[in-house]
Amino acid sequence: MTTATPTAVTVRGTCTLVGAGPGDPDLLTLKAVKAMRQASVLLVDDLVSDAVLAMALKGRRTRPRVVHVGKRGGCASTPQAFIERLMIAEAQRGERVVRLKGGDPFIFGRGGEEAEHLRAAGIEVEVVNGITSGLAAATALGVPLTHRDHAHGVIFVTGHARDAEAELDWATLGAAAAQGLTLVIYMGVSQAERLQAGLLHHLAAHTPAAAVQHASLPQQRTVLTNVAGLATTLRGEGIGSPAILIVGDVLRGVAALAAPARDTSHAVAA
Ligand code: SAH
Repeated sequence: MTTATPTAVTVRGTCTLVGAGPGDPDLLTLKAVKAMRQASVLLVDDLVSDAVLAMALKGRRTRPRVVHVGKRGGCASTPQAFIERLMIAEAQRGERVVRLKGGDPFIFGRGGEEAEHLRAAGIEVEVVNGITSGLAAATALGVPLTHRDHAHGVIFVTGHARDAEAELDWATLGAAAAQGLTLVIYMGVSQAERLQAGLLHHLAAHTPAAAVQHASLPQQRTVLTNVAGLATTLRGEGIGSPAILIVGDVLRGVAALAAPARDTSHAVAA
């Protein structure tokens, strides 16, 4: 028989920033699922799909406390400072906090700021990658973002500047695209007119452009146009947030790639 020796135990929680991917729960990593299922407190972003949240709660004996910190139900979004204070407070109480963020936690969406604040407060932070929506959007179109016949690389960029001074020079980005860098634009739909005007300074009007709304989800929509027709097409088709815009010659093959896949359902296994 063993006797318990009293020891001083410091209750120390953790915080894991988990990438929830673009929406389809099959795109979650195993590590993300494990972290979600071990959480005692789940802070959920508005871009996290219901199917992903259901996966986090599936088969659990004890339910975690779930806090929605997004704009669901038409409410104003929770201020960032409040979310960070809540994460820190819960972790300091010894909770296993999981912050579930759309896509990848470190591609836009303020994951970097959250990690910095948590670490500054002495909280241990782990980050679990997710599939970023820019990649899911390209796959939805059947586009290899760096197809070597058309592109030397890819730029992930936000269309939503933090303030006017941080505004990107879209003419320069157009020049980059003209040299074979594919542009993957997050948060760009509301700024489409401005982006388009800037890009057209150095980019041919007929350069292909596409938008993917709700990538990977059942309500996914894709539209294909060119830079000169981008804003009009988005407005005409009623494409709204969340959507990714892709610009560049890699889209030239889309029509061919989008052809119905060969039916292999009758293939006989060797
Ligand atoms: N961390 C996220 C991006 C957060 S910024 C990621 O890695 O995907 C929010 C923007 O992401 C949206 O405005 C939109 O541009 C894009 N986005 C997120 N989910 C999306 C989805 N399912 N389909 C298309 N765009 C999406």
